[in-house]
Amino acid sequence: MPILNRAAELQEEVAGWRRHIHQKPELNFDVFETAAFVTEKLKEFGCDEVVTGIGKTGVVGIIRGGKGNGSTVGLRADMDALPITEITGKPYASQTPGKMHACGHDGHTAMLLGAAKYLAETRNFAGSVAVIFQPAEEGGGGGNEMVKDGMMDRFGIAKVFGMHNMPGLPVGQFAIRPGPIMAATAEFTITIKGRGGHAAMPHGTIDPIVIASQLVGALQTIASRNTDPVESVVVSVTKFHAGDAYNVIPETAEIAGTVRSLKKDVARKAEERLRQLCAGIAAAHGTTIEVDYDANYPVTFNHPEETVFSGDIAAEVAGDAQVQRTIQPVMGGEDFSYMLEARPGAFIFIGNGDSAGLHHPAYDFNDEVIPHGVSYWVKLAEKALAA
Ligand code: MN
Repeated sequence: MPILNRAAELQEEVAGWRRHIHQKPELNFDVFETAAFVTEKLKEFGCDEVVTGIGKTGVVGIIRGGKGNGSTVGLRADMDALPITEITGKPYASQTPGKMHACGHDGHTAMLLGAAKYLAETRNFAGSVAVIFQPAEEGGGGGNEMVKDGMMDRFGIAKVFGMHNMPGLPVGQFAIRPGPIMAATAEFTITIKGRGGHAAMPHGTIDPIVIASQLVGALQTIASRNTDPVESVVVSVTKFHAGDAYNVIPETAEIAGTVRSLKKDVARKAEERLRQLCAGIAAAHGTTIEVDYDANYPVTFNHPEETVFSGDIAAEVAGDAQVQRTIQPVMGGEDFSYMLEARPGAFIFIGNGDSAGLHHPAYDFNDEVIPHGVSYWVKLAEKALAA
């Protein structure tokens, strides 16, 4: 069963919505115009319920099937953009400097709208479909806010599914894996309190730059010497700030960065070792080091049964040879993780072809993906809710 004819017919209309959303990128929870556009479309399609303001600016549309009662399946898209200035030069490029849809959430939103239109027209299923449009995927935890707002219970959502485009994966292909598919993320800021002074008289100071340098090296041992080599962890120091002059040893230095991992015990151990290294190096130099450590998104964990189901749906749309079912996990984070902690489900990648990478100023969602994505959502809903 290839792409649905109706999904192919809808492509131009869905691409129009996608480009409209692309021109007006909004950040974080401030997706007011995008959410209003989604709401207007869902009402126009004749959704049975359209509820706004879930998780601040999230929107949920409910479509009841025409084949009687049954459970409710949630299909989720994200609506927010990134603080990047677009360089694509496309006629529909962002109209706001400093903001752009560089992760394809414009495409995700448009494809789910396309599926909602199809499902509201045909209603060839029992039970209900909940189309979920979340804000603030890029760091704000909008998915978590929607879950905390009681979305799952309120709409009786039994299972939940997510989809993200993947540059480099050919258009028409899908990729998934059971278990961890994206990483847990944490952010740390470490402040080294030294004692400043004259650069020519270092013996009278406690040099925070030398201490911070030792710490950057020491933190690499979390991955190389504290974690089982067959497990995955990333510790990246991404900021190093200290000093203002050639002849002054500063009072303080600050380093910051991110930790990524695929298992809870690995994440816990990484934090524990980071704190121990800071305390130990502080003691060695007779000073103090402050650690601010924020665990962020949890692991995006694909439930085994739903992963097989998603892979089977993708194979129906694309053909079995076009579906990779055991890809390597990606060490990026994803806040669909919160929805997968609340309900069984699966997160799948859909090929965006040979495009610039995610979060790159030249990235653009590939409109050729639309019929594949819409067909996947429609088939998934109809099969999960077969009468
Ligand atoms: Mn994204």
